[in-house]
Amino acid sequence: MPKEIVINNQVIKPGKEAEVNLNLYRLPTRTIMEIPVHVFRSMEDGPVLLLTAGLHGDETNGIEIVRQLLRGGYFSKLKKGSVLAMPIINIISFLNHSRDLPDGKDLNRCFPGSQSGSLGSRIAYDMMKEIIPQIDFGVDFHTGGAKINNYPQLRCVFSDNKNLELAKLFGSPFILDAPYREKTLRHEAAKKGKEILVYEAGESMRFNKTAITEGINGCLRMMKNLGMIDVEVPECETKVLNDTTWVRADMSGLFRTTKKYGSLIKKNEVIGTLSDPYGEIEEQLKAPETGYIIGINNQPVVNEGDALIHIGME
Ligand SMILES: [Zn+2]
Repeated sequence: MPKEIVINNQVIKPGKEAEVNLNLYRLPTRTIMEIPVHVFRSMEDGPVLLLTAGLHGDETNGIEIVRQLLRGGYFSKLKKGSVLAMPIINIISFLNHSRDLPDGKDLNRCFPGSQSGSLGSRIAYDMMKEIIPQIDFGVDFHTGGAKINNYPQLRCVFSDNKNLELAKLFGSPFILDAPYREKTLRHEAAKKGKEILVYEAGESMRFNKTAITEGINGCLRMMKNLGMIDVEVPECETKVLNDTTWVRADMSGLFRTTKKYGSLIKKNEVIGTLSDPYGEIEEQLKAPETGYIIGINNQPVVNEGDALIHIGME
């Protein structure tokens, strides 16, 4: 018999679907902010999967991935187990088109949170109390920044076999070793024995078709591999990257590259140019290693030391 799922005092029985609220949060206008949790349950016992997005309010690709997964109706046909889907955790920052909370805090540095803390701390506390104890593992969908465009990549901890195994079931174009960071959802969930993978793709406030498609396919592939659903999912050639490095600007000025993200580059190959804005100085940027471009800075005006191209090595 599947275990009971209870969120915010609401019981969701096997075979049922429900939309519940994580909690209610009162804003300065007396407006009540709700954070919806969509719950789907099979009659059969099986993995309980958490899908989260919008921990950072401007990371629209992640939000779109979970929205399309909900819209696709895949979770209404679960063969076993349950899905908890939260398309936007950081509702207020989503409305503000901002990454962080109104008080400047990063919600993904507020974990494990506290019941009487600031808004971010309270949301984190409710996630740890109401959601994390119910799940077996999860995928947290993120997006690159306003400058950096990430090629679809899954971040996990290679020293944890279960983590890497789960990442391979998802099968993103790239899998990276990313150590835990303090006060993140991923780290605090791991302390409770719940594995959460972080998917990063595209750039903030922009839809990116590859980022969205790879995220959806990865999630469906993982669920299919776990026997939760029965769907056709295209294969994905996954590269496991053991190390990464940033190519940084060694002068301030204008940056440009002709390289496509996701592509393989050879050591010492020219991958871009840096110049002053007056047509006098121009220098070539060379690849320090052979590897794949997993992130590119799309902002042409750069300062000395800025991160320009993220390279991942097999
Ligand atoms: Zn993020």
